Amino acid sequence: MARIVIKNLCKDYDSGKGKTIHAVKDASLTVENGEVIVIIGPSGSGKSTLLRSINKLEIPTSGHILIDDDDVTSPGTDIRKIREEVGMVFQSFNLFPHLSVSDNITLAPIKVKKMEENEAKELALKLLKQVGLEEKANAFPNELSGGQQQRVAIARALAMKPKVMLFDEPTSALDPEMIKEVLDVMLDLAKSGMTMLLVTHEMGFARAAADKVIFMDNGEIIETGKPEDLFTHPSNERTQSFLDHIL
Ligand code: ADP
Repeated sequence: MARIVIKNLCKDYDSGKGKTIHAVKDASLTVENGEVIVIIGPSGSGKSTLLRSINKLEIPTSGHILIDDDDVTSPGTDIRKIREEVGMVFQSFNLFPHLSVSDNITLAPIKVKKMEENEAKELALKLLKQVGLEEKANAFPNELSGGQQQRVAIARALAMKPKVMLFDEPTSALDPEMIKEVLDVMLDLAKSGMTMLLVTHEMGFARAAADKVIFMDNGEIIETGKPEDLFTHPSNERTQSFLDHIL
């Protein structure tokens, strides 16, 4: 079953100097339920814009995005509902510094989903266990390492019980020794059947977890394939040239 269908998506930005930047050009993509898709490509190729359009952090210039057959690009859509269904984890963790780890996780379920406080706390503990941080429930974000904060950010997104998780360079701000602990949590999530779209430079993760890898360049989806195919014998020379630079 298709969870997300992106049809002919275009996103233009005004550069502010009278020039239009075509950040995403006519991108089409289907994400099946439970599929893990990794988007790669050079900086500025439109990866983040494509991802952010899915939960309406960016409003597309044209084209359509359907989540479970609901067209989220139509003007009347409930953005709050989309953000409940589509969780997102960013490069910067954005935890609330004045709230404990547990309160960071329970805030949205209590406020938005009207969950009982006790139930939300139980859920937070369960999710903290899942990300290996059960003992940090009462700690504050500044008492945690970057890798731990990012794992809390993942638990916080999962607390809304999303259908889809988006990750925008989730390990790019981390010291190298903390990357693995975050990737391991993401790998477990992928194995659990979560539908995931990720922008990441972690090719090892892509090989281990992705059902499909998408290469973007200059706003376009150039090539889509299974990791073992795309990494070893890409069909497009731009993909080959990019891989030659990074692998
Ligand atoms: P990537 O994630 O591949 O690095 P982005 O989606 O962030 O690429 O950006 C694609 C293009 O759109 C780039 O040229 C970038 O400078 C431009 N862009 C992104 N966001 C904005 C914005 N808010 N305003 C103007 N230009 C933007």
